[in-house]
Amino acid sequence: MSNGGVAYFSAEFGLDESLPIYSGGLGILAGDHIKAAADMNVPLTGVGIFYGNGYFQQRIDEGGSQQHLYPTINPEVSSYPVRLVRDAEGRPLVVDVMIGGRQVYAKAWSVQVGSVTLYLLNADVESNSDADRRLTDTLYPSEQDVRISQEMILGIGGARLLAALGIRPDVWHMNEGHPAFLTLERIRMLSAEGVPFETAREAVKASTVFTTHTPVPAGHDVFSIDMVDRYFGDYYWQLGTDREQVLSLGRAGDAFNMTRLAVSMSSKVNGVSKLHGEVTRELFHRWMPHIPRQDIPVESVTNGIHIGTWLSAGMKELFDRHLPSDWAVRTAEPNVWAAVRDIPHFELWEAHQRAKSEMVRELGLPIASSGGGPLIVGFARRFATYKRALLIFRDLERLAHILGDPQRPVCLVFAGKAHPADDPGQELIRRLVELSREDRFKGSVHIIENYAMDKAKKLVQGVDVWLNTPVKPMEASGTSGQKAAINGVLNCSVLDGWWAEGYNGRNGWAIEGATDGDLEYQSQQDSEALYRLLEEEIIPLFYMRDDRAVPTEWVNLMKESICSIAPVFNTHRMVSDYWHKLYVPTSIRGNRFAADNFEVASRVAAYKKFIRDNWSGVSVRKADILADRSSRIGLNKTAFRAEIGLGAIWHKDVRVEAVGSDGRRGIWKAKLEPVQQLAKGLYVYEGASPDVSINIWKSNVNVRVTPISPDFTTDFEMELAAWGITE
Ligand SMILES: *Cc1c(COP(=O)(O)O)cnc(C)c1O
Repeated sequence: MSNGGVAYFSAEFGLDESLPIYSGGLGILAGDHIKAAADMNVPLTGVGIFYGNGYFQQRIDEGGSQQHLYPTINPEVSSYPVRLVRDAEGRPLVVDVMIGGRQVYAKAWSVQVGSVTLYLLNADVESNSDADRRLTDTLYPSEQDVRISQEMILGIGGARLLAALGIRPDVWHMNEGHPAFLTLERIRMLSAEGVPFETAREAVKASTVFTTHTPVPAGHDVFSIDMVDRYFGDYYWQLGTDREQVLSLGRAGDAFNMTRLAVSMSSKVNGVSKLHGEVTRELFHRWMPHIPRQDIPVESVTNGIHIGTWLSAGMKELFDRHLPSDWAVRTAEPNVWAAVRDIPHFELWEAHQRAKSEMVRELGLPIASSGGGPLIVGFARRFATYKRALLIFRDLERLAHILGDPQRPVCLVFAGKAHPADDPGQELIRRLVELSREDRFKGSVHIIENYAMDKAKKLVQGVDVWLNTPVKPMEASGTSGQKAAINGVLNCSVLDGWWAEGYNGRNGWAIEGATDGDLEYQSQQDSEALYRLLEEEIIPLFYMRDDRAVPTEWVNLMKESICSIAPVFNTHRMVSDYWHKLYVPTSIRGNRFAADNFEVASRVAAYKKFIRDNWSGVSVRKADILADRSSRIGLNKTAFRAEIGLGAIWHKDVRVEAVGSDGRRGIWKAKLEPVQQLAKGLYVYEGASPDVSINIWKSNVNVRVTPISPDFTTDFEMELAAWGITE
């Protein structure tokens, strides 16, 4: 990587509660990502938006209604130094972005996170109209017009800012689809230098990576074509192509989808857990119907958390004493954490008790400790409906019984914001407030207002159990449970997102209800499973004390949880994965495409154009299974034969495969080779099944033709395939 490093673009960054320019997990992850990059000396520059009023502050009124307050953010009080970015003459650096025919200006703030600089754009500039000055006031505005304007400021303005600062990134990383306009701005810049559109597009794609974060529709911005015309229309011609070409990059159905744009313009795409990678392939399949789900090019890098940010002072002190002295810089090594097993039970329990008391005190919770209790279960996250905050209230009587045992008291603590436009989410808060006032729940169900990083820290450090009950597979990763785990708090969660990888049967609890059926049925089954866990495992274990009042078995679980989760689900491991799997290969690829006046980009562009123009001539004319399974002694492989029409395309430029599925082994592929030319552009291909154990007769076999090139990052880079079914 040259010194341009990685440019990391995100609509939100959660660095610290004093800089409230984040809404939830996406922003926290971005903040933790750049902190880890700084710790690890990864050359990275962050780009985001300085929202003048940030994300709203939450009050919950008497009736349980969420109130939205928008205080002005004061950069002076941030725990990270925030400075106005100036040009060489000392004047504030200003970038301009054409938005809907208006020239909109933005200045930039810079935040220093160790060696990493984060630039934050803000449109509250005197030269803007009054309305435009308000464009960057709030995060995730409900008005689509403001949304698209912000995304143009982030993507286009951000790319211009880096250019103005002389930063030439090797890799451009889009954290979620919001910044995807940056790809179009980079094409525009190249076009202005005389690089043709198709070449510019390949050069930009070669150096861009995209992380998608959620299967929930609200996480994917979709703008009407009409809106894109109105706001972005001035750029079409500047990209060196026509309107249709530009729109086609993001077109999905009859709208313009920012995720689709990001996928079209990236050479690597990843989801944020293994399961989410699979779910994303399923999701993107509708855009690439010719490519089977399992072949959709989506990788996965499972999220982690920045341990230095989320670990309580008491636990840190304990780790400092018992772990190798350099543990904090070796957090991704399991050996380092193994020493947790040797911490005396009493000490670990004591450290947790202190964090628990501190949480109760700092959050002003009316919870008095007695008899080793209460057991505190925490549920804190955005009130998005798929997270099912009220799952535990499905059977009120049973819950009241669980919470109300004077011998073994249990408390629930809730916190979280619902997006101002999310009425069902706000309704959940209202219902929760109502429930907490019922006599049977008074004193055992508590709600904390204004969930943000400060509250999150106290909660993940101080509760006993961290509850997570999303509708599977909607929780792409989740990270709050990882924060809880490093603090010795035990997870009790649906096997979704990161927990599907993190749970090992001994480090917490899996809520194993139903994975199919309708939502109502799933909730019924999941809540049943949750009640059973609480009644039969969690509560008895918590109250099983030794003669020093330490729950020995519980502490064993805490140790197992820390040892198994901390080394894997942290941002040092995560950034290291991004570095090896995405940044380094993409940097090499991007630089290769751009070298010698874009020689490779131009070649790939010409090649793709040729293939695209001639693909309609590709067909699988005939495909047969030749197998006589008994004829080959000792080798029961099955042979395939296909007639393939390639038209003007050379046979070296395609791959021909037999693709089948076998009930036992899943998808298999067999490469076919050209053995005969029947006529111009018409070939016979043959090949044999990869394995004798595959039962061809019980499987469906298709023959597939795909364009290939050593310059492609994946086998399906062109999203093209021609299919034929065997007879
Ligand atoms: C960690 C965190 C989140 C993300 O938590 P999930 O597990 O993804 O729900 C959201 N908000 C805050 C304030 C956080 O600290």
